[in-house]
Amino acid sequence: MTPAGSDQVLTLFKDCDALLQGHFKLTSGKHSEWYFEKIRLIEKPAALEKIVDMLADKIKADRLDFDYVVGPAYGAIAIGFLTALKLGKKFAFTQRVDEKMSLRSGFAGIEGAGAIIVEDILTTGGSIQETVDCLKARNVAVAGIYCLVDRSAGAVLIEGKPVGSLLALKVEAFEPEACPFCKAGRPLTKPGASDKKA
Ligand SMILES: [Zn+2]
Repeated sequence: MTPAGSDQVLTLFKDCDALLQGHFKLTSGKHSEWYFEKIRLIEKPAALEKIVDMLADKIKADRLDFDYVVGPAYGAIAIGFLTALKLGKKFAFTQRVDEKMSLRSGFAGIEGAGAIIVEDILTTGGSIQETVDCLKARNVAVAGIYCLVDRSAGAVLIEGKPVGSLLALKVEAFEPEACPFCKAGRPLTKPGASDKKA
């Protein structure tokens, strides 16, 4: 499926090798045209900065009232931090402690403040929802939720709304027997550098 994001964003993701286009065998055994290596996003800070600049512009355009940018650990720490820097806001991160999304006691200053949440890649929205719940429990008003890539292409709603994204990309995965890329004879690649399912 053709991504709904702008060509410029797609090019930036490809430039940092975070988004690969081809014919991939996923860890599930299914085949896909697209593969995300989200670790690549934070491996090259200069490339990530260009992507975050675009996200920051999008957030600014929404004219929200907030004090903090919050990212769920670990993927969104670098992205959230850089976003906060670009927007002149404070930064905090949430992390799982004994399976429960939590905020370190050192971030007590966020209580009663407004925040936006920034995530790297939205798949099911699970960690974003947990972050929303964690912030609400600390009386933080969540003014907006953003991600770099929405792999549900707007299908996942958090608090009843789609998440703001730079790139909305519905990734289809096919059983090998039904794979159009196998039928087309495109060589199959098995990415090995990632421990995450694409
Ligand atoms: Zn295939």
